[in-house]
Amino acid sequence: MNNDDVWNDCIFDFRKIPTKCGNCGSSKVRYTTNDEIYGRIYGNGGCYLCDNCKAYVGVHNTKSKKPLGRMANKELRELKMACHKKFDPLWKNTNFKRTDCYGYLASKLGLHLRETHFGWFDKEYLEKALSILENTTYKDISMYIRLRKC
Ligand SMILES: [Zn+2]
Repeated sequence: MNNDDVWNDCIFDFRKIPTKCGNCGSSKVRYTTNDEIYGRIYGNGGCYLCDNCKAYVGVHNTKSKKPLGRMANKELRELKMACHKKFDPLWKNTNFKRTDCYGYLASKLGLHLRETHFGWFDKEYLEKALSILENTTYKDISMYIRLRKC
């Protein structure tokens, strides 16, 4: 199987350089430095910014310029943070592996593990994820791991 074929049935794929805004759909997207957003440089400094709605996303590094995920507005960024606040303790405060916790969430959302990143989700999926995580217990994840390995 071609490496890219496994992505064909994914809903979310933000591996590539954005040509359209992931928030409003505008093509007025440009690569810039994040002092334009924050007033000073944070991290590696690279980002994509939409001139139409001002959504933005950082990059993994300034050489490849690959985006960290979907270009997001304030609402999406806040939802993403709310998800991490519920999700991170599931693996940080337990002996579960992070990837198993993502696997649990992927199975609940009906997504592939490879597309299960909060920074890739749209509003609908962030809200779905948040409501799942609000009701997730240690037992749910250990059950998921046990059944998956049968
Ligand atoms: Zn936009």
